[in-house]
Amino acid sequence: MEIHPKITPIYQTSVFKFDDLNELEQYFGEPGSRYMYSRNGNPNSDELAEAVNKLEGGAGAIATGSGMAAIFAALLAFCQAGDHVLCAADIYGGSSSLLNAELSRMGITVTYVPFEQLYDLGQYVQPTTRLLLAETLSNPLLRVADLRQLATECHKHGLKLVVDNTFASPIITKPLGLGADITLHSVTKYISGHSDVTAGVVVAADAEVAARLKQIGMHYGLTLSPMESWLAVRGLKTLRLRVREHSHNALAIARFLQEQPAVRAVYYPGLEGHPQHALAKEQGQGLFGGMMSFRLADDAAVVNGFMQRCQRFPFAPSLAGVDSSLSYPLGTSHRYLTAEQQQDLDITVGLIRLSVGIEPVEELLNDLQQALKG
Ligand SMILES: *Cc1c(COP(=O)(O)O)cnc(C)c1O
Repeated sequence: MEIHPKITPIYQTSVFKFDDLNELEQYFGEPGSRYMYSRNGNPNSDELAEAVNKLEGGAGAIATGSGMAAIFAALLAFCQAGDHVLCAADIYGGSSSLLNAELSRMGITVTYVPFEQLYDLGQYVQPTTRLLLAETLSNPLLRVADLRQLATECHKHGLKLVVDNTFASPIITKPLGLGADITLHSVTKYISGHSDVTAGVVVAADAEVAARLKQIGMHYGLTLSPMESWLAVRGLKTLRLRVREHSHNALAIARFLQEQPAVRAVYYPGLEGHPQHALAKEQGQGLFGGMMSFRLADDAAVVNGFMQRCQRFPFAPSLAGVDSSLSYPLGTSHRYLTAEQQQDLDITVGLIRLSVGIEPVEELLNDLQQALKG
């Protein structure tokens, strides 16, 4: 009996069989013709990597066990001991922890560049500087990086541009098309989209870099499991539809919050008053995504009251699921920054981050209204 499944089955196997030495030689002689060992390649993780690669317009990609593994692989693709990297100051907390606590021990040093200085890197570049790591949409204040300008500035100084595109997703922005050398995702977030997978992906603009990424994935064992890959592939199929709904709901909520007396500020690139609104509109095809932050009074009792009354936005420190949630940057993602860094980034007691889901928007608006009234 021949079986013709419409969907790729889950190849839940750590290893693959060979009939004889000829097949073994085929594996080594014709790369991509067979599988041998799942840490080195599995049909499900390859399917995920290839699907995101196609969407991002890359020359090759690897799927990884988490977004952190994706960032690690991307940095190692260009760096070795003795090298120096630049990193946007507005960056995911895990990325700065990785650089500060781990890569420093491997002899890779880092300098953080404030948002306002990103297009003028001259004063930060050293002879050993290899790359700049930045995010398309920053966490938690949703600052928007002009990737075309950033790529030009990096290449002028001989640096590679590595873009963490997690918050935007490739539906909103495709960094490689704007000149980035690598784009990466925490697949845990929008690409999977259902808060049930931990995974990452790294996509390279250049085939040689993609081959180096594959090698790093194998040697460090950064591989993603078949089951997680399969779930992420399923999630990816609705990414375009989800991002449209996330964006639609988030814009309505941002406009609503802006009118509320208890809300001191709203940070959402879709609002006309956002400092990079025009750029966000041009770079994002008119979609602004599902992430936003807003500021209540800098008073923990006010924040706690709001969180306790919220029904449709559970406090869950992740993002990008189809169900809405909220997070608290000062206590989670930015907890381990110094008080001075927190202040520089404007991360205060009253700052709340929303991950707006795809529920009927009236239900979300009604919930926020009652939670703000108190
Ligand atoms: C969550 C996240 C990461 C880390 O991804 P994990 O899947 O949690 O390892 C990296 N960058 C950004 C922007 C994120 O939101």
